[in-house]
Amino acid sequence: MFSKVLIANRGEIALRIIRACKEMGVASVAIHSTADADAMHVRMADESVCIGPPPGSQSYLNMPAVIAAAEITGAEAIHPGYGFLSENASFVQIVEDHGIKFIGPTAEHINLMGDKITAKTTMKNLGVPCVPGSDGGVPTLADAHRIADEMGYPVIVKATAGGGGRGMKLAKTKKELDYAFQGARSEAKAAFGNDEVYIEKYLTTPRHIEIQVFGDGKGRAVHLGERDCSLQRRHQKVLEEAPGPSITPEMRAEIGKTCADAVAAINYAGAGTIEFLYENGGFYFIEMNTRLQVEHPVTEAIFGVDLVREQLRVAAGYDMSFRQEDLTIRGHAIEVRINAEKLPNFTPCPGRITQYHAPGGLGVRMDSALYDGYSIPPYYDSLIAKLIVHGPDRAAALARLKRALGELIVDGVDTTTPLFHALLEEDAVLSGKYNIHWLEKWLAENTG
Ligand code: ADP
Repeated sequence: MFSKVLIANRGEIALRIIRACKEMGVASVAIHSTADADAMHVRMADESVCIGPPPGSQSYLNMPAVIAAAEITGAEAIHPGYGFLSENASFVQIVEDHGIKFIGPTAEHINLMGDKITAKTTMKNLGVPCVPGSDGGVPTLADAHRIADEMGYPVIVKATAGGGGRGMKLAKTKKELDYAFQGARSEAKAAFGNDEVYIEKYLTTPRHIEIQVFGDGKGRAVHLGERDCSLQRRHQKVLEEAPGPSITPEMRAEIGKTCADAVAAINYAGAGTIEFLYENGGFYFIEMNTRLQVEHPVTEAIFGVDLVREQLRVAAGYDMSFRQEDLTIRGHAIEVRINAEKLPNFTPCPGRITQYHAPGGLGVRMDSALYDGYSIPPYYDSLIAKLIVHGPDRAAALARLKRALGELIVDGVDTTTPLFHALLEEDAVLSGKYNIHWLEKWLAENTG
């Protein structure tokens, strides 16, 4: 096993990784910007290195600074967490060129899945069901019209380099296609420097179901069931649960095996997530994330595994500690993402925490880097805590979530906690009968 690992991230995910390192007897190195000098991940790691000024582009995304920090401290491996450099294939290549192990898949696999058109073609060839759409990129508006006419409206124009819900535009009718096509292209050009787009049939009432996979890089892979992440605002997940309320054991076994076989076939290493839209009994691949997901704890809860520990093991050359037949689901888990944002507009709300009390008790996990007196800097993502509850069944998990939310105190800044109190009063949430559009509609009706 590695003796020392550098964590190229901040916030709750840096803590999550440091905790796994500690339990494995691995020393941890935190990196931080000047704005994060007092952050919890810096306090909790065995060592820390300041790598630059506050903006992410000059600190957590600054590759030479991150690599220098690993070299100075003698870290043998780098865990990227999620976001920042976690899906940057050039970074992975540079890390490996410096003789440091990247805890994640190869640069080649990140490249393959980072380009959505290539990812879709690869998955299709591996037998994974995909959303009907254009075969590859759509170069001109005339092509877009021809393809959309053939497929039928509504359609969605998506950037091959897209991510975080950007570079995606819906065209409900032929009239809207010109705007959607040009809009998706210019947004993609500005955000990703690549304006290649493709077209998909727009599914009107799907759920977002994603399959957690894990490969050993040597041709073996398992799946750890699904997460339902349909409660979304602006294509961003707000609440996630596992198992998915609409998925039967037979469906899980089938789609899970398809996914595990697909990643095994390409010798994928480490954690990955294959995202699908699910409608009328059919799964339709949309993208693969080649990293640990924000919502991985719900999977950990129901399977009783530590995915970060497993990532370290596989990166260090060990076999996975479980086989498919060892993985059984126990109970139900729900995660809510608590952001420092002011409702109803979700305006980021950085500032000083005057009082913090984390919920606890049976089946409650709070992944957060907050503490009393901490100042949330304005430079980064507004996620400040993930509250994860686990219970014997969905009803028990919901009751536990309500109880735990009631115990949470975050004073000094606005948070999205009231949203979850309100959602727990809604029949659609309580019954699990929601699709990816439900929350947007509910927000429009309830917050005006
Ligand atoms: P990103 O990488 O930006 O997150 P995804 O391809 O994962 O983009 O899509 C994000 C979300 O956008 C999905 O969870 C879903 O809500 C919506 N979406 C994407 N493709 C479609 C589609 N073909 N039909 C309907 N909704 C879609």
